[in-house]
Amino acid sequence: MPSMVQRYLDQIALTCVDADEGQVADYIPELGAVNPDQFGLALAMHRGSLYTVGDAHVPFTIQSVSKPLTYALALSLRGFDAVDAKLGVEPSGEAFNEISVDPATHRPKNPMINAGAIVAASLVCDPNDPAAGFARLLDCYSAFAGRSLVVDEAVYQSEKATGARNRAITYMLESLGILDVDPELAVDLYFRQCSVRVTAEDLAVIAATLAAGGNNPRTGREVCAPHIVRRVLSVMTTCGMYDGAGDWVSAVGLPAKSGVSGAVLAVLPGQLGIGVFSPRLDEHGNSVRGVTACRRLSSDLGLHMFNVVGEGRATVRSSYDIREVPSETPRDGRDEAILRARRDRVRVYDLQGPLTFTSMESVLQRLDSDSQRFDAAILNLGRVETADALSRGMLFGMHAQLENSGRLGLVVDPDRVLSREAGAWTLDAVRQGKLMAAVESARTHVYPSLSEAVSAAEDFLLAGPRLR
Ligand code: GLU
Repeated sequence: MPSMVQRYLDQIALTCVDADEGQVADYIPELGAVNPDQFGLALAMHRGSLYTVGDAHVPFTIQSVSKPLTYALALSLRGFDAVDAKLGVEPSGEAFNEISVDPATHRPKNPMINAGAIVAASLVCDPNDPAAGFARLLDCYSAFAGRSLVVDEAVYQSEKATGARNRAITYMLESLGILDVDPELAVDLYFRQCSVRVTAEDLAVIAATLAAGGNNPRTGREVCAPHIVRRVLSVMTTCGMYDGAGDWVSAVGLPAKSGVSGAVLAVLPGQLGIGVFSPRLDEHGNSVRGVTACRRLSSDLGLHMFNVVGEGRATVRSSYDIREVPSETPRDGRDEAILRARRDRVRVYDLQGPLTFTSMESVLQRLDSDSQRFDAAILNLGRVETADALSRGMLFGMHAQLENSGRLGLVVDPDRVLSREAGAWTLDAVRQGKLMAAVESARTHVYPSLSEAVSAAEDFLLAGPRLR
């Protein structure tokens, strides 16, 4: 069932790889040498399901996507007051490597520019045992990703050998009295953190962990406290996409962070995380295809954080088979005997809350894991208040997909949630011009009451497998 989502992501990938403008970062040879055509995309849902496309398992260095993670660690270790005393939360509007601080307080404007990121790194350093300080940082990143991450030594050595500007920033911070540790220790930790190797899949899981308030949905581990995640997401929203942040928030509407390796991490709080990797960068330093993919995902799937639809939780309220709710349709003795033996093959799912991409994805996952348990599934929308266009499309797609496997999908819509607005569509149908066909075929399977849907499902059972 979730392959509907997979197919959609495959299509996104196809449209994104058309974009071949932009330049690969080449300030160190290791970054300049990558294959510029690579494209990996991963989507991790807050309940743990994961979808990947293309080069989603190709490793690259995390670069500036490390900044929100080190900031989270600094806040966890030092507390808000100590961190805020040295580091602001205002967008700077300047390039990431600007040698800038607030003129009055001398604090770097925010932790997403290099000056702020180096201060955050200084706050997680252990001056008595630098190796242990970095090990703690790597443990934190690994917990976010749900697997053990390592440093790309060649990139680290190059960053270190060519990092004059980052050293200049660090020594300026030292001269202003912002650093409590040896400047070389702080900048070295920063070079190492930028060189941690990840994949697009890792970025998606890290993003989903932020989306789930600090709880890694793949491992179940509590990685970071929710109030810290809230602060980190706030700063990512206003400062995450270099100096393209305002345009990003308006168009895509997801807290995000990008890095010069071509990495983009984006978060829809409460719902999902996105990771993209594609090395060519636009004039702001953001991955061209990464930005394109996120724009498409946000507009197609309705992911803008200011879409006012409520959150994507608690969708399946209860599920049972129709032995508990047989229809009142009169049946003769033979049919009743067949039904008595087979009513357990029809499952009802009572849904609740607003239907969105995220909530429908979890319904599809549920149907998929229950797939051995039913021949017909009835989705009861009795407690659903709204269904956006995309979720309606996914409902209809579910019906077609069940039909392909010889089963039946029925929808009960007593309050006519599905017909409140015109224009329901399926992910695939919309692209293949099959819009109306999808809607028409779906209409025939939408019932105004549960008892009518149960009766139709019983007819389906009576028709027997041969006729299906
Ligand atoms: N290592 C890079 C630097 O600090 C990271 C830059 C980035 O990804 O924005 O210059």
